[in-house]
Amino acid sequence: MIKSQELGSTSAKMLYINKHSNFMDTSHEYGTLINLSEEQMATKEAARDFARTYLLPDVRERDAQSIFPTEAVKKMGELGLMGMMVSPDYGGSGMDTLSYVLALEEIAKVDASAAVIMSVNNSLVCWGLEKYGTEAQKQKYLSPLASGKVIGAFCLSEPEAGSDATSQHTSALDKGDYYLLNGTKNWITNGGSSDICLVMAQTNHALKHKGINCLIVEKGMKGFVVGKKEDKMGIRSSDTHTLMFADVEVPKENRIGEDGFGFKFAMNTLNGGRIGIAAQALGIAAGAYELALTYAKERKSFSKAIAEHQAIQFKLAEMCTKIQAARLLVYEAARQKDAGKDYIQAAAMAKLYASEVAMEVTTEAVQIHGGYGYVREFHVERMMRDAKITQIYEGTSEIQKLVIAREILK
Ligand SMILES: Cc1cc2nc3c(=O)[nH]c(=O)nc-3n(C[C@H](O)[C@H](O)[C@H](O)COP(=O)(O)OP(=O)(O)OC[C@H]3O[C@@H](n4cnc5c(N)ncnc54)[C@H](O)[C@@H]3O)c2cc1C
Repeated sequence: MIKSQELGSTSAKMLYINKHSNFMDTSHEYGTLINLSEEQMATKEAARDFARTYLLPDVRERDAQSIFPTEAVKKMGELGLMGMMVSPDYGGSGMDTLSYVLALEEIAKVDASAAVIMSVNNSLVCWGLEKYGTEAQKQKYLSPLASGKVIGAFCLSEPEAGSDATSQHTSALDKGDYYLLNGTKNWITNGGSSDICLVMAQTNHALKHKGINCLIVEKGMKGFVVGKKEDKMGIRSSDTHTLMFADVEVPKENRIGEDGFGFKFAMNTLNGGRIGIAAQALGIAAGAYELALTYAKERKSFSKAIAEHQAIQFKLAEMCTKIQAARLLVYEAARQKDAGKDYIQAAAMAKLYASEVAMEVTTEAVQIHGGYGYVREFHVERMMRDAKITQIYEGTSEIQKLVIAREILK
């Protein structure tokens, strides 16, 4: 047993950290409650095992050095995690949205960066291609993406078009049998590691957002340049890049949907994507809670475990309650999507709430760890940094409120 006086020396500190930095399994708290099928539980367990075996060992190092998890992502592809909802006809796993959310939650508990890599490929790239792509596009692009052989990116944001995505400056001029693509996209997740990008661009300015198209752009195309990699606060092992297009000739057959469908494509895709980010946020919160719960039982102050202090018990009770509420919202949004219902409001509510919970719970998890929560060796410090992005991308919390209000008032 390590005594608190010994913690001053680095080796004693590392011993202490390794001993007290374990995730505990809290699945039993919700497994029966949420009424999951055996297949869904098995998917969740498989994702959990994968995360603990392949992601956990180097997660801190990848975060510290911003290293993309290349080998782990390959393995995710082999396990069917990169195209979970895609039909097996196109190399996917043919699962429902709820199974996808369960897997994503387990991955995010351990590594939020791997979760966003997976989420973008599944929700923003594969889903849209399968729903709106032509048969030829699916054969050529969806199959390698869904089987994880290549990675995809979704390119909507620009230096002057974030929350207001209608204001696209990237242009795709109609040149007969091809589009001439010019412009800059920024903040693109998987920007450096992807092979296939779905790029929103303005073809007809006079038509405003109805003049936007979505084009499938390949990395090797002439004039396509991968720019700067962002040095981020969190999700540091996902690669976020600026992408530049200078006179890139994109064949007409690479347009998704009818002429001018691009903005609708982006919005419809993001509605589903928000369920993925909500699951990522839920996973970050649940992971931090599991660590805080373990720690609170082990760490002693004033001759008893800190979990025996009522102030800590109240924190754990609130964290657990909020996580469960977020989980119900996230699973409900997934279930509504699977049932073919209009899930716009459910998805926005799930993302809004789960991301707020992720921020609150990770902050409390750091507090429960005391000084140890504030250093890089403990996972909760990273989780608090990772949580913040879930309130920003795929629509900020403010934009989620606009979406929810619009749905309520329509
Ligand atoms: C790490 C990371 C990864 C990302 N990945 C991708 C990706 O893969 N693909 C992609 O296309 N984009 C991606 N993004 C971009 C992300 O979606 C945008 O950053 C986000 O939509 C917000 O846009 P903005 O940064 O321009 O902020 P702004 O739109 O400038 O917003 C600034 C602030 O104003 C608020 N605000 C804006 N408009 C309103 C309004 N009408 N009412 C109330 N408040 C408002 C916002 O909520 C925010 O608080 C990523 C961003 C980051 C940081």
